[in-house]
Amino acid sequence: DNQFRGKKVLVLGAGVSGISVARILNRLGAIVTLSDSKPAEEINKDFSALASAGISLALGAQDETLLADLNYLILSPGISIYIPLVKAAQERGIAVCSEIEVAYRLSRVPIIAITGTNGKTTTTTLVGEMLKKTERPVVVGGNIGAALSEQVLDIAENSLVVAEISSFQMEGAAYFRPHIAAILNLTPDHLDRHHTIEIYQKMKERIFSQQQAEDYTILNYDDPIVRDMAVRVPGQAVYFSRKQRLSSGIFVQDDTIRISWQGNILDVCKIEEIKIKGAHNIENALAACGVCYFSGVKPEDMAQVLKSFPGVEHRIEPVGIINGVSYYNDSKATNPESAMKALEAFPGHIILIAGGKDKNTDLTEFMKLVKERVDYLILLGEAKDRFASEAIKNGISNIYRINTFEDSVILAHKLSEPPQVVLLSPACASYDMFNNYEERGRIFKDLVHRLG
Ligand code: ADP
Repeated sequence: DNQFRGKKVLVLGAGVSGISVARILNRLGAIVTLSDSKPAEEINKDFSALASAGISLALGAQDETLLADLNYLILSPGISIYIPLVKAAQERGIAVCSEIEVAYRLSRVPIIAITGTNGKTTTTTLVGEMLKKTERPVVVGGNIGAALSEQVLDIAENSLVVAEISSFQMEGAAYFRPHIAAILNLTPDHLDRHHTIEIYQKMKERIFSQQQAEDYTILNYDDPIVRDMAVRVPGQAVYFSRKQRLSSGIFVQDDTIRISWQGNILDVCKIEEIKIKGAHNIENALAACGVCYFSGVKPEDMAQVLKSFPGVEHRIEPVGIINGVSYYNDSKATNPESAMKALEAFPGHIILIAGGKDKNTDLTEFMKLVKERVDYLILLGEAKDRFASEAIKNGISNIYRINTFEDSVILAHKLSEPPQVVLLSPACASYDMFNNYEERGRIFKDLVHRLG
């Protein structure tokens, strides 16, 4: 049986994961209300199946009457713990949990959890691929794909579960205890929601705070904030480092990924054999090897995956080669820091397509790197004039301001000659011209394929 049967549950947020957690809890015998501050016509989904399954709907208005006799308040990942309704629930002693906490409580198998400011999706996907080499059933979830609570219900007992966890989801995860946790890095991001870096850090640390002696926490030694977390880890802290040889942990030595643990030293593969590009992806690879070492994956299987894993869509994704020029889709780079990771992944000779919805970010460091590595700078969208004037200020020439996405790809094609590469890495959000970065990336790929 389960702890939700017969309990009164309110699910906040009628998005994909809110709807699936409502459905699951209903199936498990809870008395479920699904609520969203938006009215039904704005959400534009068919709620009739939920209603006929016995789920009550409270759409459009949210007030404290929803809290009467409530046992659990469940938050979708998009809902902040700081909204007044959640505060009111906490004051009444109602248990507040995130969807990921529900997944943890329902899961029959231990969970592997990956978090950090950047690299979560890549590392989680990479871990999923490595785990598949064990030939046990593998579930990859969390921020990726379907809600984890839905995926962990009917799985075999020998399954391996890996979840991408955002700090938002940790806000309502007081009991969440992964058997293996990894923290990739921590930079000031999402401060609009978490208020201070201290609170943000505390949320990230929740990923290991419930762990016990037999659990593992994989930490980035090269990130000073993450490195210092080791003293608070209740289980075994395991470091990975791209920059330093460690006496114990996962690190790079003689251009090789090496795992050193309790006197065993194992080589995985050469750095140059890793298919995904860039120093940041070496860090993701090291973290994945650490997680998978403690999950029973053999080093040769880790190596096989690292040599063949092409990366996640829209993250320095190879699109094709035309007349000897390689095209890369890095549409996920919605800020200058991410775009710099992509620029750093190439030695130079880059034709860069950038611009989009301007977030008024500081471009100083970005433009320095553009000057160093970019042959032609093609600018688009709302941000193109500001980007152009910043580029000129930094002594960059060869700047083109283009009105349509299609023309920018055609121009890049016309200008390009080997050994140049064409890189879409916008350093901006996509909302001025597209619905989201995924759409921008897909259209880019279509345009490139049409060139060929
Ligand atoms: P997330 O899921 O955390 O957003 P992704 O794996 O989707 O991370 O990568 C998003 C972007 O973040 C990448 O395009 C790259 O620019 C940057 N990135 C990825 N991994 C790292 C890392 N380990 N350190 C710093 N930046 C990274």
